[in-house]
Amino acid sequence: MTDGPSLVVDSRKLKRQPGASLKVDAVVPVTEGMGDEVMRVPPGDLPVSILLESVLDGILATGELEVSAEGACVRCLNPVSEELPISFRQFFTYPGAESQEEADDADTVEMTSEDLDLSSAFHDAVVLALPLSPTCQPDCPGLCPDCGVLLAEAPGHRHEQQDPRWSDLAKWRDSGQSPEGD
Ligand SMILES: [Zn+2]
Ligand SMILES: [Zn+2]
Repeated sequence: MTDGPSLVVDSRKLKRQPGASLKVDAVVPVTEGMGDEVMRVPPGDLPVSILLESVLDGILATGELEVSAEGACVRCLNPVSEELPISFRQFFTYPGAESQEEADDADTVEMTSEDLDLSSAFHDAVVLALPLSPTCQPDCPGLCPDCGVLLAEAPGHRHEQQDPRWSDLAKWRDSGQSPEGD
């Protein structure tokens, strides 16, 4: 069991006959949001379309959904939102079946129930799809390292003079005195 959102699909209506398939529309309630403060999927109900396919030694489940992720630009902290198409696959082998035709790109687990648990495949796919370093625009110039002004809104912004405190320190240094003045 995972603590995250739960996605379990009933496979009883799928014919156990290679080639048979069944479409299932599911809704995954996301109560706590997924991801982190950089980029996350906010709480809400996520519709997922799932395709179950009977193969010789098991059931292949493919899920597809689209999420709206939101977060903050890593350079300027402006809000960022992105629509992310997500898909995932999980292969459930019949108990005891020697898997002959393992799906290359699907995680394989033994089928322990007619209710197929896609929770972790769903969770991993969503979290992996979230960008690690989202930016509000590809060439976001970020913030001025000196004063924190938003550089995108301040064309040509720069600082002509050094901070006066530093020139005072330089004077002390040049005179050989301690700034503490004992
Ligand atoms: Zn930005
Ligand atoms: Zn500045």
